[in-house]
Amino acid sequence: MPLRDTAPKLSPEQYEKNFAEISPAMTARQAVTEAARCLYCFDAPCTIACPTHIDVPAFIKKISTGNLRGSAREILSANILGHSCGRVCPTEVLCEGACVMHEKGEAPIEIGRLQRYAVDHVLADNLQLFHPGAPNGKRGACIGSGPASLACAAELAKFGYDVSVYDRNEQPGGLNTYGIAAYKSRATDSVREADLVKALGVKFCQKMEVGRDISFAQLEKSFDAIFIGVGLGETWALNLPGEDLHGVYGAIEFIERTKVQAFHEVEVGRRVACIGAGNTAIDVVTAARRLGAEAVYLIYRRGEPEMPAFAYEYELAKRDGVSFLWQTQPVRVLGEKGVVTGLECVRTQLGLPDAKGRRNPAPVPGTEFRLDVDMVVRAVGQKPTTDFLKAIKGVEINSDGTVKINDRHQTGHSKYFAGGDCANGGKEVVDAVADGMAAARGMDAWLGSPRATGR
Ligand SMILES: Cc1cc2nc3c(=O)[nH]c(=O)nc-3n(C[C@H](O)[C@H](O)[C@H](O)COP(=O)(O)OP(=O)(O)OC[C@H]3O[C@@H](n4cnc5c(N)ncnc54)[C@H](O)[C@@H]3O)c2cc1C
Ligand code: SF4
Repeated sequence: MPLRDTAPKLSPEQYEKNFAEISPAMTARQAVTEAARCLYCFDAPCTIACPTHIDVPAFIKKISTGNLRGSAREILSANILGHSCGRVCPTEVLCEGACVMHEKGEAPIEIGRLQRYAVDHVLADNLQLFHPGAPNGKRGACIGSGPASLACAAELAKFGYDVSVYDRNEQPGGLNTYGIAAYKSRATDSVREADLVKALGVKFCQKMEVGRDISFAQLEKSFDAIFIGVGLGETWALNLPGEDLHGVYGAIEFIERTKVQAFHEVEVGRRVACIGAGNTAIDVVTAARRLGAEAVYLIYRRGEPEMPAFAYEYELAKRDGVSFLWQTQPVRVLGEKGVVTGLECVRTQLGLPDAKGRRNPAPVPGTEFRLDVDMVVRAVGQKPTTDFLKAIKGVEINSDGTVKINDRHQTGHSKYFAGGDCANGGKEVVDAVADGMAAARGMDAWLGSPRATGR
């Protein structure tokens, strides 16, 4: 069934222009000049701020001496997804946010772009920097092939484990492939990066859903340790009247289309409303505008100061001409003949801050109004994968639906370890990588570190 009205189609050149990389690759000259600005701090705050603790001064120094292979090795040994992270990390609040240049009133070193520059060299020339460890006779499985599992699998392979990854998607990479805004990274970039993990001998079993195509019992029988890296589930529903109308999408579902379909094939309304104000909502509204939607509204029940999206993401949406409806909440989705025709909203008033300092909104009677839209996107967070986790006997679940783990990322069932979004509740790619690596070390320690004892 078609939408009531769709955005006009753009030329192929216009789509490519709209989704061009917001942080393009550096030239050799730019990279060397930028690397030369680094002060090579002792106890570098950027390294401390990076969840994977990449030795930033060391890799930048190697760029400045022309040793790109050594630089990439420095990055990828700490973070096998260093290429993606160079493109998608919120560097403003991580490494670059901690750069001492801020104290001097100067622009921070462009760590993300330098990182990408070094790893581009490895990917472009198909260089093999790492090798699987000597086989230790143990087998590890990873459920999911998102950043957390890829990092866990790579680390285990380097320790000498025989590793298999199971994912229900066609392509590896998880949200890195299917979720991250196309102007930051394309699906092909993420899939190419998974090849670095394949090169370590890790076996990928795509289109295999654990719990359906292969049972937990089968995994437990075949593997010594199992990593759960299943991420989060679908977008929460709003439970509004009219939410089942055609033209109401979950944010993940809509964004995935922009990653797996050609841009001209992605159906988008002429007028779009997006509910929510986190980073995912920004990805929705910027994608809708770049696909040609003429009017895009971001609807948030609190005010601008309470917006959860990072400031630079908000700036992107402002630059794209999105309209922000603060202190506004949806009441019902309106439709005709089963298709979205509008969204009824009401203004809100914010109360006093609660214990967490959040001001709770209350609808103001009589302020209802109607927005004329053809598509409504829910961007109010992803559900936890509670049903999946509950199916594993012994695995405990926290009150927020995340999986309960100890210091070495081990769950209540000693054979299962976990990390990434399903354990941290939803953070960034770099956090998932850090979790996956920590879990691999936890698994290895639990199994008696067979590579160290020679068992
Ligand atoms: C729209 C969006 C935009 C984002 N943008 C950014 C960004 O710009 N920068 C950034 O750093 N982070 C971003 N993130 C966050 C980042 O993508 C996640 O933190 C990260 O991907 C989490 O990795 P993960 O491995 O834990 O889970 P995921 O990436 O979600 O991977 C989980 C994998 O598990 C698989 N799976 C689930 N259940 C099963 C099963 N039963 N059997 C087999 N496989 C299964 C799934 O198919 C999936 O491939 C974004 C997230 C979203 C939703
Ligand atoms: S992985 Fe991300 S946070 Fe860490 S140094 Fe690289 S760009 Fe910065």
